[in-house]
Parts: sequence; C-alpha cells; structure tokens
Amino acid sequence: MSSWMKNGMFRMKITQSGMDMTAGFTWQHRCNRVLALVAGVILITCAGCRTDTYTHSRFRERSARLTTVALMPAQIRTGIRGDLHCHTTDSDGKDDLEAMAMAARERGYEYLAISDHSKRVAMARGLDAKRLGQQIRRIDRLNERLEGIRLLKAAEVDILENGSLDLPNDILKELDFTVCSVHYHLNLPAEKQTERILRAMENPYFRILGHPTGRLINARPPFGFDLEKIMKSASERGRILEVNSQPDRLDLSDVHCKMAKEHGVRLAISTDAHQTSELDFMRFGIAQARRGWIEAKDVINTKSLEDLLVCFSAGQRRTKEDQLFFEVVT
Ligand SMILES: [Zn+2]
Ligand SMILES: [Zn+2]
Repeated sequence: MSSWMKNGMFRMKITQSGMDMTAGFTWQHRCNRVLALVAGVILITCAGCRTDTYTHSRFRERSARLTTVALMPAQIRTGIRGDLHCHTTDSDGKDDLEAMAMAARERGYEYLAISDHSKRVAMARGLDAKRLGQQIRRIDRLNERLEGIRLLKAAEVDILENGSLDLPNDILKELDFTVCSVHYHLNLPAEKQTERILRAMENPYFRILGHPTGRLINARPPFGFDLEKIMKSASERGRILEVNSQPDRLDLSDVHCKMAKEHGVRLAISTDAHQTSELDFMRFGIAQARRGWIEAKDVINTKSLEDLLVCFSAGQRRTKEDQLFFEVVT
C-alpha cells in the first residue's frame, strides 16, 4: 500500500518502508531545472569567450607541467647507472667493500663509488693517506674479480676551515674522483664560509661538493653563505653539486636544484649510504631532483661508466678546448 503526498516542488511516495524521495518530480520542477540548465550554459559560454586565451594558456602551461613531471622521474629513475657516495667499514659504514658492491649490482648499477671519510672526521675513523692508499689497492684487486659492477675509487674529503682539502694531492690524484664536504666549523660568517668553499673548489682534484648546504631537516639550517656565488664558480670550473638522498638531509633542496640547473651546474644524485639497505635512499634524491625540475641530462650518474670517467678527467683540464670537450661530453 502506498500513497502520494504533494509538497510544492516534488512529491513524496509514502510506502510501508518509509518515504521515497526519488519517486517523482512535479512538472514545475522539471521546467525549472531545464531553464536553470540553459541559463548555466549561456553564462559559461560567455565567460569562456572572454577568458578563452587566458584559459588556454593556463591549460597549456598546466598540461606541459604535468607532462614534464610525469616524464622526468621516469627518465631519471631508469637512467641512474650508479651511486657516487657511500661508506664502508673502513670508516663509519656498516658493510664492507664487497657487500656494498654486491648490493649495488643487485640494484642494477654499473658502478658504485666508495667514498669513505678522510682523517679529519676522526669520530668516523676517517682515512689518512696511508690507509686510503691501502683501500685503493684493495679496490683494484676486488675489481679484477668482480663481475657486473665496477667499484670507483673515491673519498669524502673534508674541507678544512681554511678551504684546503684534508688529504694531500699526491693521494687524491690516485682516485677516480673526490666528494668534498664541510663537516666542521658550520657557523662561520657568510663571507668566510663562501670563501672557504670557493677556495676548496680551486683544488684541481675537487669534483663533487657533498651535501652542499649542510642542512639537517628540522635540526640544522643551511650554512649562511652565498650559494649563488658558489654555483657560478662551480659552473665555470665544471664542478658538480650533490643531491644527498639521506632523508634527514635532502641537500640540495628542490629550490636549490632548480637554481643549479639555471646556472648550468651538473648534479650527482647520491645516497651517502652507510650500509647496503641505504642504497635504496636513491629514490628520495630522485624525487627531490624531480621537484627541482632536474632532467636526466643534468645528472652526472645517468652517464655510462666510460662517459663518467671522461667527464671526471676532463674536469682537471684547464684549456679552452678541453673545457669545450667537457661541455660536449656532459
Ligand atoms: Zn658528509
Ligand atoms: Zn658521506
């Protein structure tokens, strides 16, 4: 049993199970809806005519951005061929050379750079020239029997307060490249901190500036220094800036990644892994670079081993022709 109850715009069907609000609309309501719909279409069309150019350009801009964002991570993610910053049990890492090499190979890398701390970072049992020399020879021997992965000989060399590097050039020249980082005297006045890093970058064996701004997320702000000046110098000298993928660092920030790109500075996305599992931090660095509009071609560790080594050695050359060559291969 049911009955209909009229209530202005619509009628309610009262059934044994209660009121059915969708049971039916009156003809007046149907007419009102049609009129509202027609009026809406007219208004939207008029507004569309006036804002056509604006809407289109905004749409195009957003589409381009979405397309770029969608493509970039894939390009970088599939393009990363190795990690250029990690530590082993020789300094403060938890896994040895071979374990790190195997873990990198499992991740499909062509190369992994071993960059243990230098002696100034005593709490991490940093290496002096003698111990680094021993490690270099061990890596050479290991490379002879490793298959499917190449260990690169590097070091995370401390940048001392006066801008000199913590290890002599005699041992640095035996490395494939260096990662040079600030770990102490973090609160120097801006001018001094800037000069310190600029001076370090003048060293012919300086290649990558590690965790460039020194920030620790929610714990320590970036150095008070002139990063733009440092980027200009890095661009002129062919120095590379790191995107450190450690979750508490993510240094460079996304804004600084974009700034580096605008200055023509190449980046290395590295994990600074202290154990095999931390090699997986790479995805955080990639995401960071992606937010800074970095493309695969801006990232040095998307290169093949051969091109990477050419790029590192080209950075030592100072002639105009060599600089041109460096530009071409990178
Ligand atoms: Zn460091
Ligand atoms: Zn490190």
